[in-house]
Amino acid sequence: MQMIQQTLILIKPDAMVKKIAGNIISDLYNLDIKMIGLKLVNVQKELAEQHYSEHREKPFFGDLIKHITGELHNQENVIAIVYEGEDAIEKVRKLVGCTNPDEAEPYSLRGKYGKIHTKTNCHETVVHASDSKENAEKEIELWFEKDEIINNNF
Ligand code: ADP
Ligand code: MG
Repeated sequence: MQMIQQTLILIKPDAMVKKIAGNIISDLYNLDIKMIGLKLVNVQKELAEQHYSEHREKPFFGDLIKHITGELHNQENVIAIVYEGEDAIEKVRKLVGCTNPDEAEPYSLRGKYGKIHTKTNCHETVVHASDSKENAEKEIELWFEKDEIINNNF
């Protein structure tokens, strides 16, 4: 059964320095889901740690926080987007590709644009995309105020 879902995308600092935000949004258009919120966010450590709290105990957590806050790329801004549509979470995850960019399908966003950072081994995964309905709800609430979600752009 198909479900209308909302999902959060973050265009991460590695993608911002590569100037490929437009390419990413362009690929997302093909999924036939609608954009209902979008903003540029200067990511502070507290927001980063909350967003990635499930990875707090992982060995790569420190580098992950340095990555999303822009320290690794000297680029603090990310673009945060909320999309809504039928099976939006799964559709977006499929376009994004798997977590290791070296193993991601060549046509996926991570296959096309991702890489493993040579010095830190940090996976430069180009975008974040919510992986479940529960996480999507939590993440949208963390990154967006209620009145920043616009639900009338058909
Ligand atoms: P995804 O982004 O596909 O949901 P995870 O939630 O497992 O993947 O991991 C969050 C982020 O942490 C990834 O996008 C990537 O930037 C980083 N990461 C994940 N696994 C590793 C790893 N083994 N080594 C380095 N960085 C990693
Ligand atoms: Mg994840």
